[in-house]
Amino acid sequence: MNLVEGAYDKTQSGLRTILVAQAKVRLCFALTVIVSDLLLFLATSDGVPGWFLGLTAGYCIYVALPFQLIRIGAHSTPQTLLMATAILDPVMLSIWIALTGEYGSLLAGFYLFTTLGFGFRTGRPLMHLCQLASIAGFSFALAINPYWQQHPAVWTALLIPIIVVPIYAGILIKTLREAREHAEGQSRAKSDLLAKVSHELRTPLTGIVASAELLSVETSDATVARRTKTILTLSDNLLCEINDLLDEAKFDAKTVALSYAPVDLNQQVALLRATFETMAARKGLAFRADMDPAVTDLVEIDTHHLDRILLNLASNAMKFTERGSVRLAVDLLEQTATDYRLRFSVTDTGIGIPESFREKIFEPFSQVDQGISRRYGGTGLGLALSRKIIDLMGGELRFESALGSGSRFWFELTLRRAEAAAAKIEDIPAAIVCGKRILVADDNESNLMLLKELLEVDRHEVTTCTSGMAALEMLTRQTFDLLLLDYNLGDMDGVRVLQTYRFGRLNPVPALFLTADATVRTATRLQAAGCAGILYKPINLVGIRDALARLDLPADTVATPSADGPLPGDYAKPVRPSLTVVPVNPLNESVIDGLKKINARPDFLPQLLAQAQSDISRCCQHLLDALASRDYASIGAAAHALKGVSANVGAMRLVTLANTLMNMSSDEIAPLNDRLAADIRESSRAAGTALAKMIADAGKASIDDAGSLHLD
Ligand code: ADP
Repeated sequence: MNLVEGAYDKTQSGLRTILVAQAKVRLCFALTVIVSDLLLFLATSDGVPGWFLGLTAGYCIYVALPFQLIRIGAHSTPQTLLMATAILDPVMLSIWIALTGEYGSLLAGFYLFTTLGFGFRTGRPLMHLCQLASIAGFSFALAINPYWQQHPAVWTALLIPIIVVPIYAGILIKTLREAREHAEGQSRAKSDLLAKVSHELRTPLTGIVASAELLSVETSDATVARRTKTILTLSDNLLCEINDLLDEAKFDAKTVALSYAPVDLNQQVALLRATFETMAARKGLAFRADMDPAVTDLVEIDTHHLDRILLNLASNAMKFTERGSVRLAVDLLEQTATDYRLRFSVTDTGIGIPESFREKIFEPFSQVDQGISRRYGGTGLGLALSRKIIDLMGGELRFESALGSGSRFWFELTLRRAEAAAAKIEDIPAAIVCGKRILVADDNESNLMLLKELLEVDRHEVTTCTSGMAALEMLTRQTFDLLLLDYNLGDMDGVRVLQTYRFGRLNPVPALFLTADATVRTATRLQAAGCAGILYKPINLVGIRDALARLDLPADTVATPSADGPLPGDYAKPVRPSLTVVPVNPLNESVIDGLKKINARPDFLPQLLAQAQSDISRCCQHLLDALASRDYASIGAAAHALKGVSANVGAMRLVTLANTLMNMSSDEIAPLNDRLAADIRESSRAAGTALAKMIADAGKASIDDAGSLHLD
């Protein structure tokens, strides 16, 4: 039986809200009773008896206890606590009435007050439980106190309503509940309609985006190109709004399903760090994202929804903090052989949340005041959605805040450890996908060269192209098993290429994106475009093999590694370049060592390095031209390209510089124009010199190798 069938919000947090409300009423009641009884005793000649002080102390402990239990927040207790208080409230009242006799008669009406309170807040089961406890408790008081025994008419007049009124209230509550369920059914139907409409809107919108993208590529007219760009930007915004509405509607209609898969939380936290570090630096805030080092295994979770929650909480913290710091943390609370209990929290030193807003904060479309949406933007949907998702995951979103000092939002989840999955990824070179027809689109030759070499290790048939349009053309002419698309292609955004290709196609082949932009925002955008996975630059064989293996391709394409091909263990794991540390060495040796292992052909490394040298110099020149002509709009794409080609050969100073540029707005670049240009020149020169030396050394080694062969 559902004990809280009549509660409006039956989730853990909803029940906790009821507990808090009842605890507050109990506190007011306790204070009134204690003070008035105290005054009555003081008015008599005997004064305050000792037993009364003992009774008061015991009652105060009982009143304070629920607050404490709610605060420590044992996650499974709200329903049990409600049941316990439904019994204990009348029991306490009965003890009070039994001991205070004549004065206690003033309180007997509160049996009804308590019983009906449970009825209206939680429904009939707890109301009748409370009623039974009231009848039993009152009978006990009648039995032991002489005052009641001397006044049978008074207690009869009190006992009859305690028996009759809750029964009548139960009938009314049932009628009310049915009326509410009817109204909720209608609201659900509206939500279903909203979900359907939002869903239907997305299909033509994708078509609009695809057509506008084609138009922007085909036209040579600058005005048309500018207008199509506006269409594309607005369509992106519209798509985001529709997605939010769709999510809200889905949660209302309770049709959302979570999909759990093994996830490396360390990596997720690193992604969030990369997303917010620069934003925080721009606002002059300190940002930290800490992952408990004791969490070593992957965990089973719906990463898309977890990202959305953390992104929303961290974005709010960032948005509402002008000074101080923002900290995201994942702490291990408990662990068993199979599970981790983790606390996710986001703390800020921002404007805080007024007490009056506490009750409403999780309601959809609610913001502290209208001014907020004008000043900070937002729709007031983020926290409502986050709370619903966390509820679905078995946790509860909670917060504490002090106006003017900051806020902390947190939730705790018990997640299954996915040790086996971790072992599979890290250690076992078992199933490797071989021999697929793969189209690779990247606008940098060195990226293409490297990707081709890496894919050919596993005997894939690789076709390359350097622009979005060329990729679309090839896709109409040839059949492929997989697409590898750079996120930023010269003429077209990779997302647009994918959307254009997928538009109206029944069975599109899977696509993997290649990007150097390791932010959650980009990952979310790429996932929303329908990609099957993301490969972060610098790319290595382990990453490619792992991504292909996850695509669930037909069994006949899965083989063991080729005898002459290197084993996955030979390659470094994917390395995300640090955003804050600027290495002194122009080239990272471990990256170069990794490149050497890809292909033993003597001319491979010098050729690849020479191509990278030319790509780096071209990308740097783009950036310098953009800075010189103050064309800041094109800096993001140029920096992204530079980051990719530099990361391939471990030119980490350039990677760091490109990262910084990718995250700066035009307003921030403008005053630093000359300094940034000097930095680019200097870092590019250093990388160029180091590459030239390495090419010379590699060339010499290849000649030496050839010589030694000849001597043999
Ligand atoms: P949005 O941010 O889109 O307005 P949310 O549901 O995420 O929607 O947040 C609702 C409201 O809660 C915000 O508009 C703001 O008034 C308040 N709020 C949320 N997080 C914070 C925070 N960290 N500091 C201060 N106020 C906050």
